[in-house]
Amino acid sequence: MAHEREVAGIRCMEVLARLPDFLDGELTRDASERIEAHLRGCTWCEQFGGAYGAMIAELRTLRPEHGTPDPDPATDDPADP
Ligand SMILES: [Zn+2]
Repeated sequence: MAHEREVAGIRCMEVLARLPDFLDGELTRDASERIEAHLRGCTWCEQFGGAYGAMIAELRTLRPEHGTPDPDPATDDPADP
């Protein structure tokens, strides 16, 4: 398989290799955020993450960055002129 797909600056293979540590909270914040960003934008990891697929799907719904889901993404831009 040649899944050299890169999302959020990290490849699927790196994400899958680090998933156990990520789920255990043993990665640095920087590494965790990068993996989270990748999982949000990558369906391949969700489908082929095997046992982690369900957890990945759950991570997407949790959205820890915002705490609560924003019903209107259009107003999610904090830009203030
Ligand atoms: Zn991926």
